[in-house]
Amino acid sequence: MQDLEAVIFDMDGVIVNSEPCHERAFLDVIEEIGYTNKLRLRFSDYIGRTDQELWADFLASHDAKNSFDDLMARKRQRMIDIIRRDQPLFDGVPALVERLSARYPLALASGSERPVVEEVMKLKGLNGFFSAVVTSSEVVHGKPAPDTFLRSAELLNVSPQACCVIEDSKPGIRAGLAAGMQVIAIANTYPAAELSQATFVVHTYQEIAQLLLDLHPPATSTSAEAGLPLSAPPCVKKGLNASG
Ligand SMILES: [Mg+2]
Repeated sequence: MQDLEAVIFDMDGVIVNSEPCHERAFLDVIEEIGYTNKLRLRFSDYIGRTDQELWADFLASHDAKNSFDDLMARKRQRMIDIIRRDQPLFDGVPALVERLSARYPLALASGSERPVVEEVMKLKGLNGFFSAVVTSSEVVHGKPAPDTFLRSAELLNVSPQACCVIEDSKPGIRAGLAAGMQVIAIANTYPAAELSQATFVVHTYQEIAQLLLDLHPPATSTSAEAGLPLSAPPCVKKGLNASG
């Protein structure tokens, strides 16, 4: 396998703990338009997918008077308000991004819309560490299609095979693999057992640093210190060849 030359981050569920924010924003809009007691789809079925798909399915299965564009705009504004208010960055992400950026060009490949992604990128100066940002506003097919990741590799001028993706969702893992990339899945949103298609499954950002920076865990380190059962070390399935 070719040496690693770039790292591509998913955003929701990897950079920010935003799946609860998306659900809150969605339910707020549903309440605003009077469908709280008439909702016939499950938000959990749309984790890792785009708002476009969510609202298209909502309109197809409900007799709502709102237009697609109105629903998109309402949820977009709610998300921006919630991100500004709660700043839901995962602990450990700013430090990881800074360390990785010293060695690899980084891209962000998100299924969220650009205005929401840009709001997240303002947190802790994250935007200074990413060389490319691709959102659902720029690709035709969202994850699990590989387009978002392929466009990221193109913008970084790196072959897809030399990229490693960091994902949290099953559609995201499928998208990364379909792009021909290695995938590190972090068990933030789903249990590790449900992410087993990924090249690696980890529980912490420290494990990601170890994998991508060739670091070895300190001899005294235990998974218990990271809040993990001792029987759950990182599940390394295949060799990953990180270049210096
Ligand atoms: Mg995600």
